[in-house]
Amino acid sequence: MGERIVVLGGGIIGLATAFECQRRGHEVVVLEKVACGGQASGAAAGMLAPFSEIGEDPDDFFRLCLESLKLYPKWQKEVKEVSGMNFEYTNSGSLHCVYHEADLLALETRQQWQGQFGAKAEILYGEDLFKLEKELSRDMIAAMYYPEESHVYAPDYVKALEEGCRKLGVKIYDYLEEVTLHSWQSEITMVAKDGRTFSGDRLVVSNGAWAKELETVLDLSIPVYPIRGQICAYNIPVGKVKHIIYTSQGYLVPKANGTLVNGASEDIAGFNTAVTEKGIRRLTNWNKNVLPFLEEEVPFHTWAGLRPATQDGYPLIGTLSNTPEIIFAAGHYRNGILLSPVTAHIVADLLDKKQEIVPLTSFSPERFS
Ligand SMILES: Cc1cc2nc3c(=O)[nH]c(=O)nc-3n(C[C@H](O)[C@H](O)[C@H](O)COP(=O)(O)OP(=O)(O)OC[C@H]3O[C@@H](n4cnc5c(N)ncnc54)[C@H](O)[C@@H]3O)c2cc1C
Repeated sequence: MGERIVVLGGGIIGLATAFECQRRGHEVVVLEKVACGGQASGAAAGMLAPFSEIGEDPDDFFRLCLESLKLYPKWQKEVKEVSGMNFEYTNSGSLHCVYHEADLLALETRQQWQGQFGAKAEILYGEDLFKLEKELSRDMIAAMYYPEESHVYAPDYVKALEEGCRKLGVKIYDYLEEVTLHSWQSEITMVAKDGRTFSGDRLVVSNGAWAKELETVLDLSIPVYPIRGQICAYNIPVGKVKHIIYTSQGYLVPKANGTLVNGASEDIAGFNTAVTEKGIRRLTNWNKNVLPFLEEEVPFHTWAGLRPATQDGYPLIGTLSNTPEIIFAAGHYRNGILLSPVTAHIVADLLDKKQEIVPLTSFSPERFS
């Protein structure tokens, strides 16, 4: 029989989890302080790029990201079908570009170990690279081409997930301003600012950069911190840039609607989501070294979001050992859009007592306590 699940936070992680749990027969309620998708999830560039993001070592986090990338083709189709809404999902491939011969060894090392995990990865040099992406700066000497890396248009993906949840029967309560955990001993009871209470059998903590709020009430160390990402977008002719382009100083993602998304800074500014001139300038000053035509262009839109970072860079996913009524799904830092399907499946599998699709020990929410 299905359980009554209360999901705290209506970002991509909370909504994806609600979507998966409801369609498996649970009865889900999402509680959101402000607007669903109004924080990090709506601000993201939407890259699904585990090979570009994790270049150092094959660890449990890399495996988690890889599992999620594999789930995406089916997952995004299902979200579209259930919601009746479309959103961009583009298999663009990506180019991880380098400028110096000394960087080639690192590319070769990456290619070798990622290849062992089935990654398609090809190093392209000089003219072969420029044939694939014509506008690239001729100062580059090579790039790793990852044909399987892709991207979604994150604001539309969140909207479709929210609609999909509603269509499945998830009850979404937004603009609650404040929601606190009141008790969990006999059943989960959450209280909103206006005094309304919400109860359930289980609580999923998916309130992103705000997860630390539960530290005192749960007597648990939850080192999740907001890392501000400032980001901007240019208007360019559709098709002028074809791939996600990574360099050591940032990335550029060409969207189907003609915007070229350029991110992102990593600054510590508490819960402040203001955009600073310095933050954006740091991104745009570099762009002429990547795509020289951008020297003449000015971004038409700038924004910022708060990535939920943890002390060791890994998310918190799993059940509390002495309080199995509480499941964490928070701290996804730079990869929450990529990790949304796998997180949703893991939480639903925990509820349904199914075999874990990846080992969860490294992601234990209690590892800092
Ligand atoms: C500039 C930028 C670019 C990014 N690019 C990418 C990318 O290309 N690919 C990728 O995979 N990831 C990317 N990310 C990271 C990704 O956006 C995050 O990892 C992901 O959105 C986290 O989702 P979340 O649901 O945990 O958090 P959020 O989206 O922040 O959602 C948490 C929600 O919880 C709510 N909340 C907080 N406290 C409470 C409470 N007490 N009660 C009720 N609700 C509460 C908040 O209002 C919020 O809506 C990027 C992030 C930024 C900022």
